[in-house]
Amino acid sequence: MSFDDVVELAKRRGFFWPSFMIYGGSSGFYDYGPLGTLLKDNIINIWKREYAKEGAIFLDTPVISPADVFRASGHLEKFSDIAVKCSKCGTPYKLESLLKSLGITEIVKTVDEAAAILEKYDVKCPKCGEKLRNPYDFNLMFRIGTNDLYLRPETAQGIFINFKNLYNYARNAMPIIVCQVGKGFRNEISPRQALIRMREFSQAEVEVFYLDGDDFPVPESHADLSLLRNTGELQKVKVSEAFKSGIIGNRVMAYFLNKTYDILLKLGFKQDRIRAREHDPGERAHYSSETWDFEYLMDGDWIEIVGVSDRGTYDLGRHQQFSGENFQIDGKTPKVIEPSYGVDRILLTVMDSSYYKRDNGYKVLRLDPHIAPVHLAVFPLQKKDDLDRIARGLFDRIRSVDPFVFYDDGGNIGRRYARQDEIGTPYCVTIDYQSKEDGTVTIRERDSTSQVRISMDELIERAKYFPDSFTELFKH
Ligand code: AMP
Repeated sequence: MSFDDVVELAKRRGFFWPSFMIYGGSSGFYDYGPLGTLLKDNIINIWKREYAKEGAIFLDTPVISPADVFRASGHLEKFSDIAVKCSKCGTPYKLESLLKSLGITEIVKTVDEAAAILEKYDVKCPKCGEKLRNPYDFNLMFRIGTNDLYLRPETAQGIFINFKNLYNYARNAMPIIVCQVGKGFRNEISPRQALIRMREFSQAEVEVFYLDGDDFPVPESHADLSLLRNTGELQKVKVSEAFKSGIIGNRVMAYFLNKTYDILLKLGFKQDRIRAREHDPGERAHYSSETWDFEYLMDGDWIEIVGVSDRGTYDLGRHQQFSGENFQIDGKTPKVIEPSYGVDRILLTVMDSSYYKRDNGYKVLRLDPHIAPVHLAVFPLQKKDDLDRIARGLFDRIRSVDPFVFYDDGGNIGRRYARQDEIGTPYCVTIDYQSKEDGTVTIRERDSTSQVRISMDELIERAKYFPDSFTELFKH
């Protein structure tokens, strides 16, 4: 299972690991290590640049909000899962996952329906065998102390309640694309699969505010996308074609589904392990009238990594109603399309999708060079004969133009390549005896393991334009 291998590698090499381990840990919380921190930043930066190209603006609002916000947004009332707790061993279960694991496919929406299903199938605790009864609604929001304050379950509300400020900032021009990246908190009943279901996680959310008639061109799709409709029909089409044939009803939704797909491909995901799945009406969040999840195929399971929802006028409408503020433009409340990216899930799945083993069993992360935490590694062939001094000098020069470079003189050169392959470093530079003669070095490319020789001066010039200047070198 590649998931287990990736989690093991992540922990051993400093990408991520469970938090609070010296005190026994706490489920649903993870630390990012030195390499994971850089990888996460790089993923976020690509997302940021891609939306900046669309003219997006950015925002940063508090993670703590007064209850008023979530009363208006509907989260206080509706942001819950049905849970059931074993009366004997105390294990809590999220009903939906429990029923799924037992092969029960009936859709359960209310606590009464849940009680009937538990009775009908005589469901027992998988851990201790006790009958599971008395399901209840479990709100996923964390309440803080005795104050009427909550940790936000999504970053989006901070954007909605600021609509007027943002509209003024944009000098009253519509549409407005607003992005926020930050922590979200959900008191998940059963956190699982490392970064996939956490209690504290990072979201990169985009709220596209528009009015009917605002122009969004039919998307320029490049690649086919697998679309799984809620009718069960699976198609491989370009998003533009899916829009023209009415599968995606809304032009703005089509535009941002295409944008999201583009970003995922830029991050290095392969087409055949990504699909967009349409939600069933019963599955959609309370604010949504159409949702497509981008999912990644991991060890046979499809995992949601980005959710794209049509929130219509729901959120602005509710905040107008509850706050008395007027968000209308020419008598109309703007509509919203929301692509919501789970940063942690993207990080884990992008590692999974780039993981492979060479024939000799060595592990490699074929990360796209744009997101690799370390760009270049510098090695002296030997720690003697002046090679180490030259290598150090070169390392310092590279570092002044690209700081994401690593120096390693430990062990044989094969081991050093293997260590860099495992963390996804795309290029390794070796200083050998010929370097002393003519000032050239070898650059070895991670995936092909092929090598080229260039001068140190050229290397420094190329390092200023990482990674394209290096990709060019290895084009055959
Ligand atoms: P949602 O608002 O539920 O559509 O969430 C938006 C995105 O956040 C999802 O596509 C996931 O990638 C991510 N996400 C949601 N819940 C969690 C969680 N508990 N842990 C990690 N990521 C999550």
